[in-house]
Amino acid sequence: MPAFRPTLAYLAGALAALFAASPAHAWSGLGHRMVGELAARHVQPATRAEIDKLLAGEPDPTLGGVATWADDLRNTDPDRFKATSRWHYVNTTDGTCHFVMARDCPDGQCVVGAIEAQRKLLADRSQPLAVRRDALKFLVHFVGDVHQPMHASNHPDKGGNDYQISLRTKLEPEAYARSKYIDGVMGTNLHSIWDYYILGEVGVDKPGHPGLGMKGYADRLDALPWPPEAGALSAPLAWASESCRLVDARSLYPQGHVMDRSYLDAMRPLAEQRVRQAAWRLAKLLDDTLGTPTP
Ligand SMILES: [Zn+2]
Repeated sequence: MPAFRPTLAYLAGALAALFAASPAHAWSGLGHRMVGELAARHVQPATRAEIDKLLAGEPDPTLGGVATWADDLRNTDPDRFKATSRWHYVNTTDGTCHFVMARDCPDGQCVVGAIEAQRKLLADRSQPLAVRRDALKFLVHFVGDVHQPMHASNHPDKGGNDYQISLRTKLEPEAYARSKYIDGVMGTNLHSIWDYYILGEVGVDKPGHPGLGMKGYADRLDALPWPPEAGALSAPLAWASESCRLVDARSLYPQGHVMDRSYLDAMRPLAEQRVRQAAWRLAKLLDDTLGTPTP
């Protein structure tokens, strides 16, 4: 037999798998893309024109198309991912949902601080276009993240990453996690349940798992009464506290560590509401930031 010679492509793949296997950081691609897609449908025309200008040249120049870029950095620009990895979440350590910025977000290094900082950059028309484009891409992602309850938690388990789950599901995991999928049972954690499985169970559309697909799922959520709430709560700190209170008040923690789709079905309306709120608030934030036409 010929000796095994790892090719460069093999090594790159193995490396990518290694990065991808570290703890999840976000709603899955599906959740993030729906937040971007729905926000894009509800911004003012002047805002949309600014978005088009900023995203010109992107492979998919839409809010949905850039919504996972901040997570994709993990593979495309590991140094930048590392430098920005704390921007995806915020945790309190005292068991309450009262976030103290100096303690829970030192130097603005959390999702609340990141939203505020990137919003300032996006609003500042003296900044280079590339800086404002990245700020827009970060904002689409982080407004999604802060609405995923496990991204703003007061439990000492790294936003559910340390809470192990055995999930019976027909939805196969993404490639990097396939080795943990055995006889229809996925070895995962509560964070990933919220990132991927609750929405993915009905939304992921792929061979062997016919689902609504991103656009079809966004259509379904968009057909519900809009906007999803009166007014639009505009402070990222309030969004984080709201996520945290959901973790507590809604008993998002299952009994034990074994579940099937009944948990996913029970939690889906809440997950969908968080996607809709994120989209609505993102649209308002972008209107406030970009809605005035460039002089
Ligand atoms: Zn994220």
